[in-house]
Amino acid sequence: MLVTLRRIVQEVNAARDLEQASSIIVSRVKQAMSVDVCSIYLFDQGAQQYILMASDGLNPESIGVVRFKQGEGLASLVGETEELLNLDNAPDHPRYRFIAETGEVSFHGFLGVPIIHRRQVMGVLVVRQRSKRRFDEDEVAFLLTIAAQMAGAIAHADARGEIQDFTETPAGKNNRPIVALSGAPGVGIGTAVVIYPLADLDAVPHRKTRDTATEILALEQALEAARTNIKALEASIHPELGAESRALFEAYLLMLNSDTLIEKTIERIRMGDWAPGAWRDTINEQAQLFESMDDPYLRERADDVRDLGRRILAHLQNETRRQPDYPQKTILVGEDISATMLAEVPRERLAGVVSARGSSSSHVAILAHAMGVPAVVGAGELPVARVDGCELVVDGYRGRVFVSPSQAVRDEYTRLAREEEELVAGLEGLRELPSETPDGVHLPLYANTGLLSDLAPSIDSGAEGIGLYRTEFPFMIRDRFPGEEEQRAIYREVLERFAPRAVTLRTLDVGGDKALSYFPIDEENPFLGWRGIRITLDHPEIFLVQLRAMMRASVGLNNLHLLLPMVSNVAEVDRALQLIGRAHHELIDGGEQVLMPQVGIMVEVPSVIYQIEVLAARVDFFSVGTNDLTQYLLAVDRNNPRVATLYDALHPAVLRALLQIVAGAHVMGKPVSVCGEMAGDPVAALLLLGMGVDGLSMSAASMPRVKSVIRNFTSGDAREILEQALQYDGATAIREYLEQTLEQQGLGGLVRAGK
Ligand code: PEP
Ligand code: MG
Repeated sequence: MLVTLRRIVQEVNAARDLEQASSIIVSRVKQAMSVDVCSIYLFDQGAQQYILMASDGLNPESIGVVRFKQGEGLASLVGETEELLNLDNAPDHPRYRFIAETGEVSFHGFLGVPIIHRRQVMGVLVVRQRSKRRFDEDEVAFLLTIAAQMAGAIAHADARGEIQDFTETPAGKNNRPIVALSGAPGVGIGTAVVIYPLADLDAVPHRKTRDTATEILALEQALEAARTNIKALEASIHPELGAESRALFEAYLLMLNSDTLIEKTIERIRMGDWAPGAWRDTINEQAQLFESMDDPYLRERADDVRDLGRRILAHLQNETRRQPDYPQKTILVGEDISATMLAEVPRERLAGVVSARGSSSSHVAILAHAMGVPAVVGAGELPVARVDGCELVVDGYRGRVFVSPSQAVRDEYTRLAREEEELVAGLEGLRELPSETPDGVHLPLYANTGLLSDLAPSIDSGAEGIGLYRTEFPFMIRDRFPGEEEQRAIYREVLERFAPRAVTLRTLDVGGDKALSYFPIDEENPFLGWRGIRITLDHPEIFLVQLRAMMRASVGLNNLHLLLPMVSNVAEVDRALQLIGRAHHELIDGGEQVLMPQVGIMVEVPSVIYQIEVLAARVDFFSVGTNDLTQYLLAVDRNNPRVATLYDALHPAVLRALLQIVAGAHVMGKPVSVCGEMAGDPVAALLLLGMGVDGLSMSAASMPRVKSVIRNFTSGDAREILEQALQYDGATAIREYLEQTLEQQGLGGLVRAGK
């Protein structure tokens, strides 16, 4: 059964659409389990009904016609209870209902399992037998596994609007969004441009072409290039190769000349597919053919087909990979959008970002935030490869994406986007006004930055300085470590543009989800591994260069504050201070007029909370990195969409940790600011004001909204609101309460789309 299962899974994965996936499942399951019927019922959320979506064994006419209301029939019972139901004689069960349209005679054996995706019942998978039959444990396990597979296929189809076609809601087009996470606030409407990794067959997006001649030519050139390449490979290492390896090269060449592969691909191109998409489908089809063979040797050949497929694809992508034509309003879409991918799109064309991976505090979200681009992350349900060229609506406030939206959805979001522009224009006037509560408490707002190109918005935002300059970005966009002089010039520009205001430069914080292509770190658990100060202390040669560059950049300006990331114990701080002192001395000895900067640490590892006083005796200030602090306190990976709903900086435990940090630091007379994404969230900023933090650092785009909150609540109001918030026992209730509070103050537009 294991082999059968693997084959079904492969076939379902390769299915064109939900209809094909369902019909594969019903017929294969019926055969594998030797049952009389296998059916899939789809749950129609709108009508709260189960619809017969596919069946092998029931009357085909009844597909799409037979429906069970909740509370009616056995299939819906399985859905309601979210539990499997195994009955040897179904008619005995009180919920049994006889349906004539299905051509049902008397079925007795019944096994139904729910199809559940992320806690939601998507449908029910049922097998039935004429005779009495109790299904054994292996059979139950088999059906449960198939149902889990089906869940993903249904969720993807739902995201594409296919389910709606099936359930025949009148809207025709998509009114149902993909529910994901907010990456950066704002509303974006535009055309999807899918960015995908190269030489990966599964990642090739579906794209149509009219220029079949060019696509066919590209295919032929790629095939020719691959032939030459393989022949050259074979010739160069021929003597050392055993007969078996030689046979492999020969087999590759044979496949490359095979009419099946080439003709089928050309046929697909003629039907309107672009060459990489046509090639992917042909390779998948061939590979599956081998996979379905009983002979293990022939089955193994499927891997060769896929390997060859990838090789040709790489050539093909050389032929067809042009700089994408970014439409006027581009929505950048990808499985995992990186900082460099974002930077490639001309800013004026970028209307939104959607990443299947990531969460609100992952770096793509932070960067989109900094650029003021609406972003949705953790959109795992989005069928990335199929949305290229589709119209998308991105709601960065609520983390929603609409694919090919209906006119009604488009109109509504166009209106919200317009209102938002008005709101932002209205907030413009705040720039020159102080960040002060009505009772005169000044809470300075600083900017988070890390790319030279986004210094301008930070300066224009009225920020009182830079609260966090992530130095890793200049490291990430290069192909080697930047040298001391190169770094000095970058830091100088920031320090100079902001002088005399303070600029906090954070030392290199790579590791975790921030990789340097030229310094690979391969770890099982990167967020608990070698990152931040752990790396720089192990590599004083890198650390000292950076420290010297920072201090030299500050000569004559003296507005440098130095911030150490990922500190988890006192010894790290002592060692870092020693190295900072050494760099300072070396520079003085070399005749440079450098002053010792203020030194602070990030509070982002929970251990620091409990040693805040002893650390306060060593450093000048604290900056709380709530992005990591939340992830470590709640044990939730900040990039994992599966657990992203558990990730919320408004969790009462995070709030209490913050209170403890502020109290401990203040006892020692040391200031605490917050530089995680939480500081830029208007509702959270209200709580931080109530806690008495000394500064908030955020992206320039968040600043007007946060300032608006500060100017509308007295410090006394904020303390009371904080007290009240702490009465709730979960983040969701706290957020609701805070949003209501803003709404009552007429500031609801700061945290949702519209005014
Ligand atoms: C944080 O962890 O909150 C933080 C500001 O640092 P980063 O997001 O760069 O890890
Ligand atoms: Mg951090």
